[in-house]
Amino acid sequence: MLQMRRPLYGNYTALRKQSRNLMKHSMTVQKFIIGCGALLILSTLIIAYQLNSCGPCPDCPAKSVPQGAARPPIYISRAPPVKVPLKDSNERIIRDGVEKELDEANWGPHKMALIVPFRNRFDELLEFVPHMHNFLNAQRVRHQIFVINQVDTYRFNRASLINIGFLESSYDCDYICMHDVDLLPVNPDLNYSYPQSGPFHMAAPELHPRYHYKTFVGGILLLNKEHFRLVNGMSNKYWGWGLEDDEFYVRLKQAHLQVSRPVGIKTNHLDTFKHIHDRVKRPRDGRRYGNQKKASRKRDYITGLNTVQYKLVSSQLMHIDHCPATVINVELECDLNETPWCKEPESPSRRQHPSGQIVAPLGNHR
Ligand code: UDP
Ligand code: MN
Repeated sequence: MLQMRRPLYGNYTALRKQSRNLMKHSMTVQKFIIGCGALLILSTLIIAYQLNSCGPCPDCPAKSVPQGAARPPIYISRAPPVKVPLKDSNERIIRDGVEKELDEANWGPHKMALIVPFRNRFDELLEFVPHMHNFLNAQRVRHQIFVINQVDTYRFNRASLINIGFLESSYDCDYICMHDVDLLPVNPDLNYSYPQSGPFHMAAPELHPRYHYKTFVGGILLLNKEHFRLVNGMSNKYWGWGLEDDEFYVRLKQAHLQVSRPVGIKTNHLDTFKHIHDRVKRPRDGRRYGNQKKASRKRDYITGLNTVQYKLVSSQLMHIDHCPATVINVELECDLNETPWCKEPESPSRRQHPSGQIVAPLGNHR
């Protein structure tokens, strides 16, 4: 029996050992599976969060609240994204970015095309794009910035560039804001949402740092696309600085479009906008050639949105401090019979000889 029991006992011990090993092993496997599961869930959560977190990044469009409507409440339903190290002035933007993404569905149906007539103002643009993008996000104004860059050799034509901005802006934009690149809103009460009651002149005469006459509509003007189309946009006859905005005022008036302006603004012409304009560094091209002076004082019934001639050279999306802007490079075309003043008259120093050679100015005997 003993002899019989010994091996039996021996087998039993071995069996117990084996089963203990098996259990240990299966527990390790179990632990491993649980670990893998947890890792899988964690990584899914991280990926989902990262995909979702595109919303708060400054690249995503914001949406607008109709003028006068109550601001939608802010619901923060999850942890904010990792804070991107940005300057103090941008700190708020990150928080606004979170609000923006969460509120997007409640930000109303409108989208603004922010049209910037542009040439050779790079320093101003570096400040303008982040400032405006953040300013508009803080107001939950859905927008896209279009920088219409004039790359031909004609004189600058602000109005034609705005017409082009209108034509080239995205179809989902239902209103435009023509905006000088050097004029930055600093009072957060300036409301860029959809202009419900017709053209809205943001840079009002009592708020603009420099222009204070009653019929002034330059600097910053918002209007819906229908109204801009109704007046056939802006005149294309204004080459060089000035008066194109005054002509546009007459267009609005004749179309019985009442211009409204900000109300209840507590700041004044000194502290509502920042005007980054050094008159020495950025001289205004106020020269008038030939018939230009006379023509500029007349309402233009011929040219506008439907006659602007240009070549689209290229279009690129750029980011300044993570803030997006679409740059559209355009070459304007000029009818030299209609508006010969689109060109600088040839300076005597570069007068061309019929042979094609550049001849020296008279008196240069070198
Ligand atoms: N502008 C430009 N390059 C120029 C001239 C004008 O980009 O060479 C644009 C720019 O957006 C500027 C706007 O046209 O803010 C109005 O021109 P400017 O600032 O010279 O006129 P102001 O309103 O100061 O008299
Ligand atoms: Mn200026």
